[in-house]
Amino acid sequence: MIIIMESGAEESDIQAVISKLNALDLDIHRSDGVAQVVIGAIGLTGEIELNDFKLMKGVSNVIRISEPYKLASRAMHPEKTIINVRGEEIGGEKVVVMAGPCSVESKDHIMRMAEIVSKAGAKFLRGGAYKPRTSPYSFQGLGEEGLIYMREAADMYDMAVVTEIMDPNLIPLMSDYTDIFQVGARNMQNYQLLKELGKSKIPVLLKRGLSATIEEWLMSAEYIMAGGNQNVILCERGIRTFEGYTRNTFDVSAIPVVQGLSHLPIIADPSHATGIRDKVSPVARASVAAGADGMLIEVHDNPEKALSDGAQSLYPEQFTTLMNEVRIIASAVGRTID
Ligand code: PEP
Ligand code: MN
Repeated sequence: MIIIMESGAEESDIQAVISKLNALDLDIHRSDGVAQVVIGAIGLTGEIELNDFKLMKGVSNVIRISEPYKLASRAMHPEKTIINVRGEEIGGEKVVVMAGPCSVESKDHIMRMAEIVSKAGAKFLRGGAYKPRTSPYSFQGLGEEGLIYMREAADMYDMAVVTEIMDPNLIPLMSDYTDIFQVGARNMQNYQLLKELGKSKIPVLLKRGLSATIEEWLMSAEYIMAGGNQNVILCERGIRTFEGYTRNTFDVSAIPVVQGLSHLPIIADPSHATGIRDKVSPVARASVAAGADGMLIEVHDNPEKALSDGAQSLYPEQFTTLMNEVRIIASAVGRTID
């Protein structure tokens, strides 16, 4: 249930609503917007008489929401959430760009890649140190060594780090190195991991599961938010369909659909969505046109030798060209890109 206060409602009126909700043993989340205060009440609200609240002083409206997610819902938080990471706003006017190799491969390599992608305008360095590979015989990542290299490379070029976490036990260790925890598609419904990330203050980039509906995806965001961490960034990375010509199928409509349902920022990952280098840039351009708040792109200077996902990694020149193209597209839809 969501209670929208009148703009300019007195604090005492807000407190009266909160006390009444407290007496009903509901979990209360208050959101102070620019114009109005919105109060979300989570729990067994089915039996509550809406008029008991509608008629209270200072209350503008009371809505019973049918969506199972509350904290992630637009109704609860009408303004878009903007997440600040090292001075960069995710979800604001600027379209953010996160780029780098699929995996951290060596110190020299991640340094070189950070220089390349930052020169092209990316402010976030991506790269996995713990890799979720389909085969247990494939490269599994460098672990903490990879995190150390990544942090050094990001610091050198004044970038933020985004890297994948698979194991909740690694949250304390990884917190020393990363600015954003990436939860991969395969872990979107790893509820223990989501609950533990809810206790962290570090933003979480939550990829859409391979076969997840948008509602399931938002419920996973809700797990993190219910734990106390409101800094969730959604990432559409393609879903599994019957189509075999691409690795996954990029669901471009998920961008406006999620933006209607939720206040959370949503970014696009055309690399994993298509799996094919020459399909990445067209889909990336489409994502910015559709209103994505950012892009996550794999780039490699020698993709033939990449330890993972070489086939979908852009060459540095392709990435620079893409950045120039999306700057034009961004301006056409009222956004900017560095
Ligand atoms: C990745 O970003 O390299 C990755 C493994 O992504 P996903 O979880 O979307 O497959
Ligand atoms: Mn990858």
